[in-house]
Amino acid sequence: VAQLQLGDTVMVRPGDRMPVDGTVEKGRSSVDQSPITGESAPVFKEPGDEVFAGTINQESSLEVKVERLAADSTLSRVVQMVSEAQEQKSPTQDFTQRFTSKFVPAVLVCTLLLIVVPPVLELMPLRESFYRAMLLLVASSPCALALGTPATVLAGIGQAARNGVLIKGGLHLENLGSLQVIAFDKTGTLTEGRFSVTDLILEHAESEEELLRICGVVEQQSNHPIAQAIVETAQERNIDFPQVEALENLPGKGVKSSYQEELVWIGSRRLFEEPGAPKLSKEFETRVKALEETGKSVVITAWGERVLGVVGLADTPRESTRETLAALSQLGMKHLVMLTGDNARAAQLVAEQVGVSDVRADLLPEDKWKATAELRKEFGPLAMVGDGVNDAPALAAADVGIAMGGAGTAVALETADVALMADDLSRLPFAVGLSRKSRTIIRQNLALSMGIILMLIATSVTGIGELSWTVAFHEGSTLLVVGNALRLLRYQGPA
Ligand code: ADP
Ligand code: MG
Repeated sequence: VAQLQLGDTVMVRPGDRMPVDGTVEKGRSSVDQSPITGESAPVFKEPGDEVFAGTINQESSLEVKVERLAADSTLSRVVQMVSEAQEQKSPTQDFTQRFTSKFVPAVLVCTLLLIVVPPVLELMPLRESFYRAMLLLVASSPCALALGTPATVLAGIGQAARNGVLIKGGLHLENLGSLQVIAFDKTGTLTEGRFSVTDLILEHAESEEELLRICGVVEQQSNHPIAQAIVETAQERNIDFPQVEALENLPGKGVKSSYQEELVWIGSRRLFEEPGAPKLSKEFETRVKALEETGKSVVITAWGERVLGVVGLADTPRESTRETLAALSQLGMKHLVMLTGDNARAAQLVAEQVGVSDVRADLLPEDKWKATAELRKEFGPLAMVGDGVNDAPALAAADVGIAMGGAGTAVALETADVALMADDLSRLPFAVGLSRKSRTIIRQNLALSMGIILMLIATSVTGIGELSWTVAFHEGSTLLVVGNALRLLRYQGPA
């Protein structure tokens, strides 16, 4: 972005963030402007329309002419997310705030009554009742109560950030600890998302070069891991890319574009069930299924009515995935499940390697979303972990949405409540553990501050209290809850 000049043209892929302010030159797509305008409905953009830096392109690629150079750096985004995090209060914080807003006026009224009523009833001299009332005022000012929770939340969010986990608010910090089920996307989440092309099967293509040329040039406009692998393979073979139209993204299925007045379709078998898509012959489908049986992700390419062929790709699980999932089960997760748009065999193969027993394959984005609702009903609070445009609905619906912060798309990052900044799944058990520890400390702080307030109220009203130690207890409890909260800064993960 730093090298862009006014008047340059940038290609913004579906799911990506606009790097600059500009006008659309080519392509049609809806754009989520909520990060800038707060307006929740996406806005449709076509050539001539203005787009803003920081907004998110949704389903099709756009070519945008640079009109203003923006400084939408990652740093400024993180700063913004952190300030949002502070606005999002945790439930306990919310509770204590509501409580203190009633409690404080009540204390003031009681103090007044305590000064006036006993002398009027001739129970004690004014001098004595005034002293007790002042003790009550000191004893019951809820400093520790008000500080205990926010101090813990800030320490928790801070310690998480130091360990590469960005938590966007106290609410999510508390929720992480109560999770019962975690759903994972496959590609890019459980796996590296770095595919390699393993098979090229020709149907009506003249040569492997033709297949890779048409496929590569369209996929150049996509940010899907599969697309990147295909483009790299085509480039390695020094294939020239022709000019094609902007691409349309059909999340969970594939992509569509056109070249020389004819539509190009690239994607899974489901894409070819779309209206208007060319029909696959029985014999060809059998060959595709055979390739799927070997656990490959498959991408079928068609140009006009002509089915060119299939690209088979393989991906490897992240090194730490298996251990991480085992650690999560140990922490008491009732259920771990994989939700993927890929074919059942490829999904099964990865599942066996990483140790997930519940696999749901061939899912469209809305199916992932439905699956999260079902799983929540069956098992309780649910987290979804994902990286893609196709995961966004599920991320939004989950109790806690967790995005891969590095490799993930802007859409996923924006929708999620928690981001793993280094794409490191092994930070998950840490995050859950940290959350549980935060909840414990919050509860300890509540008990401690309430206990001391109640005790001091009793001693001051009954006249046992003395100003010196009442003040000492009161200030002491404030220091104690803050000290207790700061313990989180030393948290290193579940033992
Ligand atoms: P996952 O849920 O595992 O992240 P996706 O939903 O992103 O998987 O993709 C599911 C399937 O859709 C892929 O296996 C592929 O066949 C097809 N697909 C999705 N995007 C593309 C693309 N850009 N190019 C080709 N095929 C795609
Ligand atoms: Mg994915």
